[in-house]
Amino acid sequence: MFEFSSIEQYHAQLQQENTNCELVVQQYLRKIKEKNHLNSFIEVFEKESLEKARELDRKRKTGHPLKKLHGVVIALKDVICYHEHQVSAASNILKGFSSVYSATVVERLIAEDTIIIGRTNCDEFAMGSTNENSAYGKVLNAFDETRTPGGSSGGSAVAVQAGLCMISLGSDTGGSVRQPADFCGVVGMKPTYGRISRYGLIAYASSFDQIGIFGKTIADVSKILEVISGKDEFDSTVSQKKIEEYSLLINEKRKFSFAFFTEALEHPSLDIEIASSIKKLIEELRTEGHEVNPVSFELLDYIVPAYYILTTAEASSNLSRYDGVKFGYRTSENDLELEELYKRTRTEGFGKEVKRRIMLGTFVLSAGYFDAYYTRAQKVRKKLVDRTNEIFQDFDFIILPTAPTTAFRLGEKMNDPIAMYLADIYTVLANLTGIPAISIPLFYHSNGMPFGLQLMSKQFNESSLLQISNQLMKRGIRT
Ligand code: GLN
Repeated sequence: MFEFSSIEQYHAQLQQENTNCELVVQQYLRKIKEKNHLNSFIEVFEKESLEKARELDRKRKTGHPLKKLHGVVIALKDVICYHEHQVSAASNILKGFSSVYSATVVERLIAEDTIIIGRTNCDEFAMGSTNENSAYGKVLNAFDETRTPGGSSGGSAVAVQAGLCMISLGSDTGGSVRQPADFCGVVGMKPTYGRISRYGLIAYASSFDQIGIFGKTIADVSKILEVISGKDEFDSTVSQKKIEEYSLLINEKRKFSFAFFTEALEHPSLDIEIASSIKKLIEELRTEGHEVNPVSFELLDYIVPAYYILTTAEASSNLSRYDGVKFGYRTSENDLELEELYKRTRTEGFGKEVKRRIMLGTFVLSAGYFDAYYTRAQKVRKKLVDRTNEIFQDFDFIILPTAPTTAFRLGEKMNDPIAMYLADIYTVLANLTGIPAISIPLFYHSNGMPFGLQLMSKQFNESSLLQISNQLMKRGIRT
């Protein structure tokens, strides 16, 4: 029986011929079937992942040196395009649609010999915090099946949590990698905006979207980041900055300085146990010689409104392409005028939450309201960028909870969208300002659920973020 603990250990086992890729993939396929009720996969690429595994086993026999991600079993959130494979953003409007090209991240993963095992469930068009807005049904948290795994990348988080793959990719527009990682007890990282190409990522809100990584260890997440980052002629927002060798840097031990927001740790929505665990950790960091200081962040209560105004505005424009003409679903009603065809197709194809956001976004962009909402939210975004830059002049990191509570119960927040939105209070800052952020599974709550610590750093400082995360993870999980 193969037990996955890290890519490094897996490669060692392959080289010592203790296992092979085919056996490993077979084992994952069995486990996926066994855990089918969790609903974390929309589609499993059974036949081709086995073929790829056999091909890699042959390649090793001929003495080929192992590529960086040789045989690593990866799942993709259903918003990432993979040539000649279906991609639906968990929406009826794209059901049956096949990608006509691969995302840059997919090309890069394949070039390093990964095995892509399937596509994972998520909230429709990545809009949500519980994975309950999916046309493919809800996903269950493997820790407690009466709870949600978080969202929107819930399927990807559960795939790693339940041992159904080694690594998974998600997308993070406002926390959709970090929050499900927090709810599921795994590592979830959202790099700097522009670190990873968005070419082939189905857009939700383009100035916020970033592909992120789920894994069990910082070493693994670092390796994936090295492979999928970097310039790409197909995405003009990607940075030309050199990619550091994150996986070689993570073991460096340094003393860092941390800021925490008084308003965040005293926020009425924050669970008291989560607050006290983080305060305790802050004390320990101080005793270990790190500098940790409070800073005041008066803008905290403005970030969720600003996020929902700007992202819905961008979404209303991005999602206008799904009209029943270019691709995807078209209403089966015949003889419709063009406008009626658009209306019927979109009414039938989109789910409730996506429609809510398209309407909100259209409203905030409409003449007469544009300045009152959109322009003001842009001003808030600018203030947030200035304030965080100021903080990073004095500190290496910002410490925050990832979410105000542990995983929600299924259905708990579905009838109260505002309450659901407000729970994004700690994650959306990183997307509004484009900085990298990570959630690391450091704690258990007395209700039995895991929760994480969130760290943010200045743009393109992924190496320090991974270093400190590695240091903290090595101390083990607290209850
Ligand atoms: N929960 C947030 C939202 O619903 C985050 C979504 C995301 O990051 N894709 O918008």
